[in-house]
Amino acid sequence: MSTCRGAVFFEGEQVLAIKKFPIPEPKQGELLVKVEACTICGSDIHTIQGKRSEKSPTILGHEVVGTIIDLSSPVRDFNGLQLEVGHRITWSVCFSCRNCDRCRNDMPQKCRYLKKFGHEYVDEDGPLLGGFSDIVLLPAQATVFQISPEIKSTVICPVNCATATVIASMELAGKVKNKSVLIIGAGMLGLTAGAYCKSRKAKEIVFLDQNKKRIELSKSFGATKIGSSFTDCMDDNADAFDLVFDFAGSTQLIQQSVDFLTIGGKLILVGTVMPAPELTLKPESLVRKLISIYGVHNYRPEHLNKAIEFLLEQADNYPFSELVERSFPLEKINEAIEFATNFKPLRVMIEP
Ligand SMILES: [Zn+2]
Ligand SMILES: [Zn+2]
Repeated sequence: MSTCRGAVFFEGEQVLAIKKFPIPEPKQGELLVKVEACTICGSDIHTIQGKRSEKSPTILGHEVVGTIIDLSSPVRDFNGLQLEVGHRITWSVCFSCRNCDRCRNDMPQKCRYLKKFGHEYVDEDGPLLGGFSDIVLLPAQATVFQISPEIKSTVICPVNCATATVIASMELAGKVKNKSVLIIGAGMLGLTAGAYCKSRKAKEIVFLDQNKKRIELSKSFGATKIGSSFTDCMDDNADAFDLVFDFAGSTQLIQQSVDFLTIGGKLILVGTVMPAPELTLKPESLVRKLISIYGVHNYRPEHLNKAIEFLLEQADNYPFSELVERSFPLEKINEAIEFATNFKPLRVMIEP
């Protein structure tokens, strides 16, 4: 039987172990995929550093693009396209039962039986669900999207995590045109959100981040004003923003941002995915100012569809491909993780 490699994470160990796995035969509805590239998401780094708990052992990696190399029955992608060997694809990070109360209530991303690529147990036989691998076997419940061969892997890889999550947050934001927007955190999601808001003609886009390199980069992703704190870039604190997005998970900045929201303003929280200090809210002010607060976690397949369209449409207008600073082969994945940990690039890519 032929084999492939997968980089396995064991809880408590900072180094991934490259293991051999049998290459499975796809059953009905399944797709056998050769990984073209997988970018290392911030959450992968946090898992390896022990900052978030994860099933272990597991093959991490979920921002992934690959090519179908085998299938045993007809499978269609999200848009109804008949998939074939040779098609370049990505897929929704979550796969859900499509049948429980949450799935039926249009929250498949919170399915009671939710599974996520790059987040499931693996033993010596698989299943191969993580992107830090030569091969992924997509189960029949996966939602798959064909990807044009034209678009660079450095642009498209983060689409099924970072970009799709940004699109989910933009759906809650509603119309962006002529709005004043604050983006907390100039990481992959924040920069993508900046590009989105600029492309949708926001009036003002203010970025806050303490990382000098990232905040400078935000100028290429729509920033009209930048700073490391509110005192840096705001003169008064009333009615400054229609929309505040937090992608950094900073309770302190979220707390301060509430006072900057104008009448009818929306606060959209995305970045707090680890335990964080409490937030103090003034209910009277929220009521009188008609403020809405939203949480965003995971996304629905249609958000990924829109995210792919967004990157196809905007890939040449913003330097997305420059956000992937280096690429490593799978056998050097631990070097890649070290580089990502020490230098905090926006993204590092693994090309098996
Ligand atoms: Zn991710
Ligand atoms: Zn479900």
